[in-house]
Amino acid sequence: MRKVEYKTPEELKLLTDKTRGETAAFLKKLKKKKPKDLDDFVQGLHIDAFAQFNCLDCANCCKTIGPRLIDKDVERLAKHLKMKASDFMEQYIRVDEDGDMVFRDNPCPFLMPDNYCMVYENRPRACREYPHTDRKRFYQILQLSHLNCETCPVVYEIIEELKQKQR
Ligand code: SF4
Ligand code: SF4
Repeated sequence: MRKVEYKTPEELKLLTDKTRGETAAFLKKLKKKKPKDLDDFVQGLHIDAFAQFNCLDCANCCKTIGPRLIDKDVERLAKHLKMKASDFMEQYIRVDEDGDMVFRDNPCPFLMPDNYCMVYENRPRACREYPHTDRKRFYQILQLSHLNCETCPVVYEIIEELKQKQR
């Protein structure tokens, strides 16, 4: 695949906007088709991309979107910080307009200046899974991945690569 280069969320938004209609139409078709080899192809791109691009040179996701947390994440993080879950909730968590638990602050309070995660071994499940390009049934998250093109340079390149393959 093409070399993945760091882009700010602003740059990614501009690039995504340029081809928004064309990409949306492409992803809609792909969702209908559900090609059998889609997961293998995308997982191959995921491996290639993260072999050449280091998240420590980016951290866009930790700076701009933040994870949704589940109860287990709260328990694990509170334990990691040697805090009571209730104190952890009070200090770090709010419930958003969709009823989901999210961090009160953005960028993430556990993101360090060198882009390392202070709670890496115990980070929330959503952080482990982001940007979801190595998951099964990728056709189920094509729209979400289109949205993630505005945050993650790897997702942006993977979607561009998928479009190229179809041409
Ligand atoms: S917990 Fe760690 S991986 Fe998750 S958003 Fe915060 S800094 Fe990033
Ligand atoms: S997952 Fe994507 S947005 Fe997050 S740090 Fe890695 S390359 Fe950047």
